[in-house]
Amino acid sequence: MDFLPVFLDIRAQPCLVIGGGDVAARKTALLLRAGAQVTVLSPLLVPAFDEYLANGKVAHRAARFRAEDVTGYAVVIAATDDETVNREVAAAAKALRIPVNVVDQPALCSFILPSIIDRSPLIVAVSSGGASPVLARLLRARLETLIPAGYGGLAALVGSFRDQVKARFKPAERRRFWERVLQGPIAELSFSGRDQDARKALQQAIDDPRLTVHGGEVYLVGGGPGDPDLLTFRALRLMQQADVVVYDRLVSSSVLDLVRRDAERIYAGKERASHALPQEDINHLLVRLAKEGKRVLRLKGGDPFIFGRGGEEIETLMDEGIPFQVVPGITAASGCASYAGIPLTHRDYSQSVVFVTGHLKDGSMNLNWPALAQPRQTIVFYMGLVGIDILCRELVAHGLPAKMPAALIQQGTTPQQRVLTGDLATLPQIVHQAKVKAPTLIIVGEVVRLREQLKWFEPASLGVL
Ligand code: SAH
Repeated sequence: MDFLPVFLDIRAQPCLVIGGGDVAARKTALLLRAGAQVTVLSPLLVPAFDEYLANGKVAHRAARFRAEDVTGYAVVIAATDDETVNREVAAAAKALRIPVNVVDQPALCSFILPSIIDRSPLIVAVSSGGASPVLARLLRARLETLIPAGYGGLAALVGSFRDQVKARFKPAERRRFWERVLQGPIAELSFSGRDQDARKALQQAIDDPRLTVHGGEVYLVGGGPGDPDLLTFRALRLMQQADVVVYDRLVSSSVLDLVRRDAERIYAGKERASHALPQEDINHLLVRLAKEGKRVLRLKGGDPFIFGRGGEEIETLMDEGIPFQVVPGITAASGCASYAGIPLTHRDYSQSVVFVTGHLKDGSMNLNWPALAQPRQTIVFYMGLVGIDILCRELVAHGLPAKMPAALIQQGTTPQQRVLTGDLATLPQIVHQAKVKAPTLIIVGEVVRLREQLKWFEPASLGVL
């Protein structure tokens, strides 16, 4: 870190701007916004200063700079286009240890000014350490769109209750109280401009012990198929506030990396035939952790409600009266199909898509084959690798042509993604020879052919665009 980010209180402090051009005027405006008493030193001033001078906000000294001018100021900014003057200002201020900024000359500065997203009292400052102010500004523009304008109002509301909440809750409870308030209905009231209602609701939440935060809760979150970019904002937010995470084998390590660093991690397994924890135990583990008052993140691959046994887990939670929320994720079928360049439906080739499990039970696959072997339909098999011979054979036996295109996607959406294509007759052999690694997904249907036309989806190009 080349610079220490700090927020400086310069309210009513004397600050000096050297220079009378438009850049100097912008820096003056910034200092004024932070409540400073600004003196501008310059023989001439551009019209942008007229208003400040007229209403007495700024003092003007029409003079050339001399080293002693910096004495007594809290902050000095040089904004002249005269290199020599800029150097003299920097040297004079540094000699007296007065913080100094020289516009566009980081080497002369003792502090630099970041790009600012102003949601006062909430301020976000972005700096590239002088390396690329344009990059910092671009990032700022993106953050502007991400941070709702109402955040300022919310921060002010929360600020006015801070002492009361501090007196009422212990530190750990306090953090959770605020997290709930800031992500719940009270925040929504404030965002929608209903400040009085938000105030009333917040007061109630502080007063009513039932609304305080002793109990734990469970977040059943879909972590997507592997690429962390495919997480939802909500998933990420909950991942970052959980106390403990119970995760499956399918959750990729790059997704797991985004969980709050000091959260306890519990591996719940779910490998084929070697479940680290039986489902029953997982259900009870979630209940026990929540009863200890923890915020429990149950992190699953893909979507929790698609072959994820999420339904069973929330059933137990409901029985036990534990509050929970479910966050959908991108299921393997969507993720793999997109990243492999195979649209799951297509006007001309496929009007329906079915997701089925190809999991073998006692060596056989008990599926409604006639319903699956339909024309103009895409079939996606989850957990189908071990039974691939059976499923390809059954589909042909029930009427699909042996030449029906089929693909297997290994570790879809991750850097290890591989796509093998063939047809119902050839795919099993291709897969056996290729030594594939789990997890894999099988897609059967005419749509697989479209991959040929969508060459730019080749995994090699992933991440480049
Ligand atoms: N809830 C998950 C599915 C769990 S079942 C979801 O919505 O995606 C586990 C199966 O999902 C695996 O056997 C495999 O068939 C499939 N799967 C999950 N992630 C995958 C990935 N990245 N690539 C290929 N298949 C995947």
